[in-house]
Amino acid sequence: MIGTPVRHSLSPAIFNAAFRALDLDWVYLAFEVPEGQAPTAVHGARALGLAGLSVTMPHKGAVIAALDSLSADASALGAVNCIAAGANGLRGLNTDGPGLIDALRVENDVDPSGRRCVVLGAGGAGRSVARALGRAGAAEVVVINRTAAKAEVAAALAGPVGRVGDAAAVATADVIVNATSIGMVGATGGTPIDAAGLRAGQVVVDLVYHPATTPLLIEAANRGATPVNGLGMLIHQAGHAFAAWTGLDAPIAAMRTGALDALAERALGS
Ligand code: NAP
Repeated sequence: MIGTPVRHSLSPAIFNAAFRALDLDWVYLAFEVPEGQAPTAVHGARALGLAGLSVTMPHKGAVIAALDSLSADASALGAVNCIAAGANGLRGLNTDGPGLIDALRVENDVDPSGRRCVVLGAGGAGRSVARALGRAGAAEVVVINRTAAKAEVAAALAGPVGRVGDAAAVATADVIVNATSIGMVGATGGTPIDAAGLRAGQVVVDLVYHPATTPLLIEAANRGATPVNGLGMLIHQAGHAFAAWTGLDAPIAAMRTGALDALAERALGS
């Protein structure tokens, strides 16, 4: 994995748990790569013959120049979170959005198809989620963001069902995804929307997974909505990367245990 900071990433715990579960002689390491050095790091990985890389902030766009091909998702988003080495060189993928869709379907029995969805935030995560919800057949993808121009870009990625909206869309939504950084450890507290609009029957996803429960998820649960944190997306996007690198089905249960163990250790240490 390349990024900065990566010191507290859960990804090594998730992937190494997967390798152990399938008895694979592989190892996953996190490398602190300063801004501006991403293409050099990718060239290094190529020379070393690594099977793949995860790419995180701030390198998701910068690695593209060093790659041989891109998936349709990575190309549309202009962002790569996974690089897989193959016969045709290094291919850039973006598994974040598919990771959220899988998490909703597999972990929460929620299919976004035909659902009215609201995406709060239009950064890297918001854009990938908007695109994935559109591709998963959502009836509507309404993007709400502080910076309007970024909301337009994210809404366009959802295709014909995408539009920019405001907080009024929350009341009629079936699925609400918080893709802002509000709620993250170290970020300002509070909720990204007025929680009074939340109600039973809604699924409220917060992409934040540390802490496991955010103010938004607490408000959602108090109002009878189903709260979902970002751990499922993190694990399922990793599952897509694992499959791309190894050609094997990802051992999702082992990966989840690896993540939860690492989070528990972290809580003990803090
Ligand atoms: P990003 O590109 O920096 O985008 C941040 C978003 O949050 C932008 O839409 C920004 O609005 C909005 N925002 C930040 N502070 C705000 C505030 N005080 N008021 C209103 N809006 C605010 O970050 P990202 O990579 O998309 O990540 C967003 C969140 O998703 C983070 O918490 C990250 O940890 C989480 N995430 C989770 C997963 C997972 O697998 N679970 C994967 C990726 C990301 P502006 O556009 O107006 O600046």
